[in-house]
Amino acid sequence: MKISDIFQTKKTVFSLEVFPPKKTSKIDTIYDTIERLSDLNPDFISVTYGAGGTGTGSLTAKIASDLKNIYHIEPLAHLTAIHTTRQQATDILTELRENGIENVLALRGDLHPDLPIPGDFKYASDLTKFIADFGGFDICGACYPEGHPESEDVISDVTNTRPKVDAGATHLISQLFFDNNDFYAFQDRAKLAGINVPIEAGIMPVINKAQIERMVSTCGASLPRKFAHMVSRYENDPEALFDAGIAYAVDQIIDLIASGVDGIHLYTMNNPRVAHLIYTRIRKVLEASNKA
Ligand code: FAD
Repeated sequence: MKISDIFQTKKTVFSLEVFPPKKTSKIDTIYDTIERLSDLNPDFISVTYGAGGTGTGSLTAKIASDLKNIYHIEPLAHLTAIHTTRQQATDILTELRENGIENVLALRGDLHPDLPIPGDFKYASDLTKFIADFGGFDICGACYPEGHPESEDVISDVTNTRPKVDAGATHLISQLFFDNNDFYAFQDRAKLAGINVPIEAGIMPVINKAQIERMVSTCGASLPRKFAHMVSRYENDPEALFDAGIAYAVDQIIDLIASGVDGIHLYTMNNPRVAHLIYTRIRKVLEASNKA
């Protein structure tokens, strides 16, 4: 099923993200995770592509295919462009198509100093156009409520997001953020920039201190006062920080759903326990939104 069709039938889409296990881990670990995530009845699950230079790109197609054919969950396969040639993209899209996968998240990808840059794709919009010309896929793009770290400012960032939609993206998923006002301001800017596709809010539950430090250094998310207070108050009490982190994510999600967000995309970090704890607390709100 194409994800754009899901947006036609649901007021608030609920989706999850998983990543392939590292090369040194057993592939089976991801299937335990998916098995448990399937209880949450997600509208789709996205599978990252070689994130962080882990070289797990080939697993993305396999996991996406198994999601579809074994677990009967709609997959969204991520694909990055900057270190990929047109021939490689063709091979991957062919494999995805042969496995019945209908949805691709087209990304530029992060720049890895050790990897060559073939120059076939400069921006995500170039890959989006390539996939649209290839045909047969619904295409999704990434967006950044606080602006992409390489962007000069939030205005040029949203202006640079528009070409993805013009090239064929029918839906956007946001980077994680901790202040919903950043997301609402982005929605307003996107509308002004003529972006009229559904935008899912990316939510990352933070449950330990190391994760918070990593998030801030890799994606530059700012920490609102409420969040910073939570971290400084509970950083030396892992159980309290875990509970507070879950509550914070739940609070963000309920506010977003009540405000009419198109969808919630939960970055699960392959942690089904956390995803379950959150889902249990938002299920009724999600159901009520989709009944209304
Ligand atoms: P782009 O949209 O190309 O933007 C990159 C930069 O270029 C931005 O600063 C943008 O403003 C600028 N830009 C874009 N177009 C133009 C233009 N025409 N002229 C001038 N400037 C322009 N990374 C992975 O490696 N694997 C994954 O699986 C993965 N999944 C992700 C999922 C989501 C939902 C998100 C939000 C990010 C994900 N990332 C992943 C990270 C992503 O690859 C990085 O954030 C990357 O640096 C930018 O990718 P993009 O597709 O947003 O790039």
